[in-house]
Amino acid sequence: MNATATEHLPVVVVGAGPAGLAAAAHLVERGLEPLVLEAGARAGAAVREWAHVRLFSPWSEVTDPAAEKLLAPTGWAKPDPAAYPTGGDWADRYLQPLADVLGARVRTGARVTGVSRAGRDRIVDADREAQPFAVHVTYADGREERILARAVVDASGTWALPGPAGADGLPALGERAAADRISYRVPDLTDPTTRARYAGRRTAVIGSGASAFTALASLAALAREEAGTKALWVLRRGLTGSTFGGGSADQLPARGALGLAAKAAVDDGHADAVTGFRTQAIERAADGRLVLVAEDGRRLDPVDEVIVLTGLRPDHSFLGELRLGLDDRLQAPVELAPLIDPNQHSCGTVYPHGHRELSHPEQGVYLVGMKSYGRAPTFLALTGYEQVRSVAAALAGDLDSADRVELTLPETGVCGGSGLYDAPATESGDSAGCCAPAPRLVQLGAPTALPLVTEPSTGGCCGS
Ligand SMILES: Cc1cc2nc3c(=O)[nH]c(=O)nc-3n(C[C@H](O)[C@H](O)[C@H](O)COP(=O)(O)OP(=O)(O)OC[C@H]3O[C@@H](n4cnc5c(N)ncnc54)[C@H](O)[C@@H]3O)c2cc1C
Repeated sequence: MNATATEHLPVVVVGAGPAGLAAAAHLVERGLEPLVLEAGARAGAAVREWAHVRLFSPWSEVTDPAAEKLLAPTGWAKPDPAAYPTGGDWADRYLQPLADVLGARVRTGARVTGVSRAGRDRIVDADREAQPFAVHVTYADGREERILARAVVDASGTWALPGPAGADGLPALGERAAADRISYRVPDLTDPTTRARYAGRRTAVIGSGASAFTALASLAALAREEAGTKALWVLRRGLTGSTFGGGSADQLPARGALGLAAKAAVDDGHADAVTGFRTQAIERAADGRLVLVAEDGRRLDPVDEVIVLTGLRPDHSFLGELRLGLDDRLQAPVELAPLIDPNQHSCGTVYPHGHRELSHPEQGVYLVGMKSYGRAPTFLALTGYEQVRSVAAALAGDLDSADRVELTLPETGVCGGSGLYDAPATESGDSAGCCAPAPRLVQLGAPTALPLVTEPSTGGCCGS
C-alpha cells in the first residue's frame, strides 16, 4: 500500500472485545490512530452474553500489558491477579474502563457490514495496494457510513455463529423447526426464567468442549435441588480418558476442573452419556418434546430441551471482497492453521505467532483474537494479546519487535482429540498429539530455525 496516501487514515479495528480493545491500546502506544467499531451497545458485547460463566483463566492472564498502561493513570483498580473473573466481571472491570479511556476511538452500535479496497472489488488488480480500505458500517439507528482505513484488524470473534446440532456441520433435519426448545448457549441457571426452563426437565446437551462441561455441571447442580432434572450428554465420539479434558494435569486448574465437574455429573447419575451418536434429525413427539435421531437410526427417548454446544465459527461474509488466505478446514489464516489444528494439537499450546502468520494476500488486513483460530477450539486471551502486539508493531513499521513473538500457554493436559471449548472437527479422541513437536518459545522471523528462548514444562499429556 502507498503509505503516504493512507497514513493519515485510522486503523479500523472490528469489535470491542478483549482482542479488539487490546489492539487499540497497542496502536495508541505505537502512535497510530485506531477506530474501534463495535456492533453491540457496549464494549465487550459478546463477553457480556456469557456474563454468568466464570473464566478458567485468572485475572493475570486476561488483561493486556498495553491496556494496563493506558488504564494505570486513570486510577483503575487492578483486580486481584489470582482471582477468577466471570465474563461479567471481565467486561465491567476491565473492558469497559479500557473502552472509556480510549474514548471516541471506540464507537458502539456500529456494525461492520463489509470491507473492501476503495473503488476495487476482489478481482481488480490495478493499483490495488495503493488504495485505502473502505469499511462499510451500519449504525444502530440505521444510518450507513463508509470509513476509509489504512489497515483493518478484524477482532470480531466467533460468538455470533454457534455450530448446529447436525453431526455433518449443517442443521439437523427438523432443527430449525424445533427452535423453541433448543438453545445454543450455556444456560444461566441463576436467572429464574432460565432455571424454570430446565428445572425438573430432561435436557440433551450436544457437544464435548468446555461449554458442554459447564452446562452439564450446571444442570447437575440444578438436579441436586430440583427433582426430575436430568441431562443426556450426546457425544459424537466415544468416552475415552481425554473426554473430560486434562483434569488435574491441566496447567490451568480451573479449566481442568470443568471436565472433572462434567465427569462428576455422569458419575453421580445426573447425566447419562450417549456416545458415538451423530445427530441427523430432531423430531417432535406428539407431546411436543424432542426426539434426537442418529445417522445410524438410533432414537433417544424424548427430551424437553436441547442445548447445542458444538463449537463457534468465524463469520467471513463481510470480508468477501478481500483476498484472504484461509485454511480449508479450520477457516484460520493458512500459516496459523497448522499450529492450532485440533487434529494435531490439543494441549492448548501453540507456537508463538504474530503478524507474519496472521497476514493475508491482501496486505494490511489481519484477523486476530478468537476469530483468528477459525474453528479451532483452544484460543486463549493471552494468545490474542500477543497477536495484536505484533500486528500493531508491524503496522508501525517496527518489524524487529513485530517478529519477536513470545508466548507460553498453559497446557490442557490432554494429548489428542478435542481440547477446550466446543467440539472441533476431530472426534476420535486420539491423534498424533500435541507432543510432536514440543511447543517452544521461539523468535519468529529469524533466518533459520531459531534461537530458543524458553520451553514450557511438558504437562500431563506430553510427558517427558
Ligand atoms: C464461555 C467462554 C469462556 C471463555 N473462557 C476463557 C478463559 O477462561 N480464558 C481465556 O483466555 N479465554 C477464554 N475464552 C476464549 C476467549 O478468550 C474469549 O472468547 C474472548 O472473548 C475472545 O475475545 P475476542 O476479542 O477475540 O472476541 P469477542 O470477545 O467475541 O469480541 C468480539 C467483538 O466483536 C463484535 N463484533 C462481532 N461482529 C462485528 C461486526 N460485524 N462489526 C462490529 N463488531 C462486531 C462483538 O459484538 C464482540 O464485542 C472463553 C470463551 C467463551 C465463549
